[in-house]
Order: sequence, then structure tokens, then C-alpha cells
Amino acid sequence: MYVWFNNKWAAITIAAATVVVSRLIYATIKYVRSRKSEKEVLNILIFNELSGSCAAKHSQKAPFKCRNKYCTKSHIQSIVHQIDQAQYCIDIAIYTFTIIELFEALKRALRRGVTIRVISDHEMICSSGSKVSSLNRLGVEVRMPRTTAMMHHKFMVIDGGARVDDLWLRDRKSKPRACQSVVVYGSSNWTLQGFNGNCENCVITSDRQMTGQFQAEFDRMWKSFEYSSCNVKACIK
Ligand SMILES: [Zn+2]
Repeated sequence: MYVWFNNKWAAITIAAATVVVSRLIYATIKYVRSRKSEKEVLNILIFNELSGSCAAKHSQKAPFKCRNKYCTKSHIQSIVHQIDQAQYCIDIAIYTFTIIELFEALKRALRRGVTIRVISDHEMICSSGSKVSSLNRLGVEVRMPRTTAMMHHKFMVIDGGARVDDLWLRDRKSKPRACQSVVVYGSSNWTLQGFNGNCENCVITSDRQMTGQFQAEFDRMWKSFEYSSCNVKACIK
């Protein structure tokens, strides 16, 4: 009787300990994963007259580790990297956009099934080399203000929290995986002049307040410009 009693309590103790330990391991993995996915992003890109000083070295075939902290190529790569991380949605408000590397990254995002929306300026939408019109040709909806006021913003929200939730509620395809909202904003248009010649800045951050406010303003503009969808066929070339 005594042995049976001891075995019974030993089994209960082992079972309870197993449950506690497994829950502890699960909680630890969950915590580590959430910390990893929420690792803060803050990258301040400065462009100035030194930004293109390393351009010749980049054009060489030999591998080259650039140490120019104002480097145009490295800075564009930093923005490309963020676009390549997008899982659900990218919202862009840009006055002028001609940089090919960013366009190629956005095309890759489209191929991954990322939803892209663009707001741009009615004067610049069909200007020479405009990648806004190129995106429109690929099926990306583009809207613009209906007034004569300029749409002079230069920002992009990647996987904005509110937008991810909206898409999930709309499509209900699959529950969103954990993803990080990032905003890219600054003074520069997405042009070679902006990134390689002008004194400009561009900030990449995952700050929750900033991503939230930029997303809210994009959503407000998108709704406000509801009847101003661009069709590049209407552009005068
Ligand atoms: Zn460089």
C-alpha cells in the first residue's frame, strides 16, 4: 500500500513537472520570437555632396566594401532591404519616383503577393521615367489629390499595423503572422537627384507612434482621394 502510494505521487509529480517545464519552454520560445520580430529599427540616412564619391568603385567588378557613410548605393540598399522584408502591404506617398532599384524591389514584393497602394502628385505621376506610372501598369492603384495643392510627401509604410488588420478582415485568407511595421520617410524624392547630389535625409524606423501616424495619414488621404484613381493610359506622353 505504501509503495503504491509513493509510486502514485511520484507519477503525479513527474507529470506536473513535465507540464510546467514544457509550458516554460513554450513561453520562452514565444518570448524570444516576439523579441526577435520586434527588434527596433532605426536607420538615419544622410545624403550630401559626398554621397556619390564612391560611385566609381561600386561600378568596378571586384568586391568592394564601401565605408562612405553617405553612400547613395548603400542607402538605397537599406531601403530595398526594408521593401524585401514586407509580408502584407506597402503604402507609398511620393511626389517623384524614378529609382530603378526601388521599383525592382516593389516588383518583387508584388510577386510575393504584397498589396501596394501609391499616392502621388497629379503633375508628376506621368513625368518622364516615373516609376509610379510603371507600378500602375502592373496593376497598382494610384490616387492623387483632386486639388491644385501639391502631394509633396515622401514616405512609405511597410506592414502598417492597422492596414494589416484591415487586409485580414477583408480577405480572411490567413491570420497575420507576426510582422513589424516600418516607416521610411524624409526630405528626399526617390530620384537620383534626391539621393545623389542634394543634401537630404531619410529615416527608417519601427517606432510605433510614427508608423501609426503615417499609416493613419495615408489611410485618410487614400479615402479623401477616392475618386482620383490614376490610369496611365490617360497620361499625355
Ligand atoms: Zn559607396
